[in-house]
Amino acid sequence: MARNTQAVCRLCRRVDSKLMLKGERCFTSKCALERKNVPTKRRSTFRRRPKKSDRGLQLLEKQKARYTYGVLERQFRRFFAEAKRLPGIAGENLLVLLERRLDNVVYRLGFANSRPQARQLVQHGHFLLNGRKTDIPSCLVKSGDVIAWREASTQTEYYKVLVEEIEGRIVPGWLEMDRQKLVGRVLALPAGGDIEVTFNEKAIVEYYSR
Ligand code: SF4
Repeated sequence: MARNTQAVCRLCRRVDSKLMLKGERCFTSKCALERKNVPTKRRSTFRRRPKKSDRGLQLLEKQKARYTYGVLERQFRRFFAEAKRLPGIAGENLLVLLERRLDNVVYRLGFANSRPQARQLVQHGHFLLNGRKTDIPSCLVKSGDVIAWREASTQTEYYKVLVEEIEGRIVPGWLEMDRQKLVGRVLALPAGGDIEVTFNEKAIVEYYSR
């Protein structure tokens, strides 16, 4: 299955934005971007980067979205084509489609600290989607879907630690979680405006509209 194998902190540095791909590390001073922002004598001698063109800025927003959700270019284009085809605003449709990915839902439910970790958990077959083992991270959930851990996975050390930590995790309003059984449910699909992202989806629409 195709995926981006580059070191994730490098992706953040490339778009100069915190994409939160490393879980708890992203909130500490060990974050590569935090370290980069500490001025040093050597770094102060670096030349300023030239100002980006409109096209360059649009490309940057598209790359931020791709890296955030861990989607390769070809699949991202497919998402955009589908977003355009659906009724409504293409940018918001795109956000909703990305948000519906199973790996993203696992992350939003707090079962993983980051989307890359959620992707790995899905690929390793730890989840049942509506009672069926599903190991495809790009699978799109729909309203009413239930995401549960496989019986065998509840015996893992990872699961036991998660049970201890799950109480403090915040779940978005479009999802519901049974914190006793660690079972998630999609209450309704999210609205584009409800999704917190670090990129500008309108710029992505402009990028692909040329
Ligand atoms: Fe990005 Fe997190 Fe790495 Fe910081 S620690 S550069 S936010 S992935």
